[in-house]
Amino acid sequence: PGPAILRVLTPAMLAPLAALRPARCDKRSYGHLFVLGGSRSYPGAVMMAVEAALRSGAGLVTAFVPETLAAAFAARLPEAIWVGWPETPDGSLALEGLHLLRERLSRADALVVGPGIGREAETLALVGEIVRLGDKPVLLDADALQPDIVRAAKSPLVVTPHAGEFARIAPNASLEDFVRTSRATVVLKGPVTRIGTTDGDAAVIYHSFAGGPVLARGGSGDLLAGMIGAQLAQSPTDPALAAARGVLWHGLAADRLARARGQVAVHTTQLLDHLGAMLRGL
Ligand code: AMP
Ligand code: MG
Repeated sequence: PGPAILRVLTPAMLAPLAALRPARCDKRSYGHLFVLGGSRSYPGAVMMAVEAALRSGAGLVTAFVPETLAAAFAARLPEAIWVGWPETPDGSLALEGLHLLRERLSRADALVVGPGIGREAETLALVGEIVRLGDKPVLLDADALQPDIVRAAKSPLVVTPHAGEFARIAPNASLEDFVRTSRATVVLKGPVTRIGTTDGDAAVIYHSFAGGPVLARGGSGDLLAGMIGAQLAQSPTDPALAAARGVLWHGLAADRLARARGQVAVHTTQLLDHLGAMLRGL
């Protein structure tokens, strides 16, 4: 293989999101995203991913969460369809709920799997089954980023690791090599975020310099997963475009948040309040 092709993301990639929606559109025109996540130990992450997906343009979001959490989540964020999932004794997603997903999968355009799922063996086995279902693109984040899960995938994959998670799924590999061998779209997060994809045999690496230390707080990655998920549900055949748009919009909104409120005294989810202004400013 030749050298990787390097590209920089530019705000122009977001222009189509700022365009007025056609008058005759409906919610089906904007993608149906499924999100699977949450556990008794980490209830908040999936809420942030779902909220980010809804606030970044997804037409419909169905969220599958441990059944003891579903009612509280629905009260907090009624815009999503919350489905209670059978849970393990420790309150994580149980394998036996897989039929709930199978029954509805034809309605999904894309899936986000991972925010707050934890590392119970049964839950990780469930994620392995999900990526074997094939056809619908799946974004894997957080504890769903396991080497055997990535290897088993039949579905088109987007993976969103930070440096530590990347080392777990691709020990000793460069981003270029991992992209070429896995064929996944890889979002390697950090102070500079790199997105790896392939074009024929070449690896293509995009760099995003947007965002900054205001993002160094819990939940930033969960918001990004939801935002890329919303784009993926709208462009399921172009996961690299979905990843690029999600990363850029997230980073540029974070820059606006920091200008408006500073880097310190903010909630992570306040980033979402700047998404609209960011598009209007293009
Ligand atoms: P996670 O580690 O999964 O919560 O993801 C953190 C998110 O915040 C990623 O999108 C990172 O790129 C971003 N982030 C964290 N720290 C910084 C930083 N110092 N500068 C820019 N982006 C950051
Ligand atoms: Mg994370």
